[in-house]
Amino acid sequence: MKVIRSVKEMQNTMLEQKSSGKSIGFVPTMGYLHEGHLTLIKQARRENDVVAVSIFVNPLQFGANEDLSTYPRDFERDSQLAEESGADYLFYPDASEMYPRPLAIKVTVGDRTDVLCGRSRPGHFDGVAAVLLKLFNIVVPDFAYFGMKDAQQVAVIDMLITDYNIPVTLKTVETVRESDGLAKSSRNVYLQPNEREEAVILNKSLNEAREGIINGERDPEKVLSFMRERIQQNSSGTIDYIELYSYPELKPVKEIKGTIIIALAVKFTKARLIDNTIISI
Ligand code: AMP
Repeated sequence: MKVIRSVKEMQNTMLEQKSSGKSIGFVPTMGYLHEGHLTLIKQARRENDVVAVSIFVNPLQFGANEDLSTYPRDFERDSQLAEESGADYLFYPDASEMYPRPLAIKVTVGDRTDVLCGRSRPGHFDGVAAVLLKLFNIVVPDFAYFGMKDAQQVAVIDMLITDYNIPVTLKTVETVRESDGLAKSSRNVYLQPNEREEAVILNKSLNEAREGIINGERDPEKVLSFMRERIQQNSSGTIDYIELYSYPELKPVKEIKGTIIIALAVKFTKARLIDNTIISI
């Protein structure tokens, strides 16, 4: 596996691979890799001739009071894991390489962002869309792999690719979980031991809601208030949001039908966790 830190070198290398007829699979990450990331890399490995992984903690997608400076990092471990999972290239630019000057042309995401993390983290998805537009132009992938743990991100990237005719196919991968159901996340290391135990209720309440819907519940408010109560009673975390929308449009629904998402964010002392479930009925 080759580590590349320069935008030009990465772009030239990828363009060369592409012109020799090879398919390129791309997995963008912010590093501190875990089984979730590695599942994406392994799938890209199975489906492509060349696999590129990026590690870049993108300052543009962090708000002023968020965890940019404390976001966990361990490049040595990451590069070993990426290589073992089948990456051929690891793109690892620093912020000044990606943003030599502030972007003069901004990307503003105008749909699917007035709810969930888009509402809690103003500007977050503008930053995600901007960095992906750059990364897609640098890596020129045929396929790009994203986790459904960040389902709103997937809904936004889907629009980005469509609106800007980016010649890449979006591939999604189911959320990878710990054995007790907690969604794997780089931020889980910041949970205190009691919070780690309590955090199990996030996925548990999503599963209970899913079961209720499968058994006939159709009222979003009933589902959400049940979940709120379950989480409040079983964890010290503060609920940032628990919401239910159509997916991928992310519009409110009066009655549960078609494909819907239930998504939540809960703040613990040093980590804000997200999780979701998508149900088609
Ligand atoms: P991040 O490093 O958090 O930006 O995540 C990089 C990619 O890995 C994104 O597409 C995430 O959705 C995906 N990802 C993160 N956690 C998981 C997980 N537990 N299961 C599946 N994919 C994940």
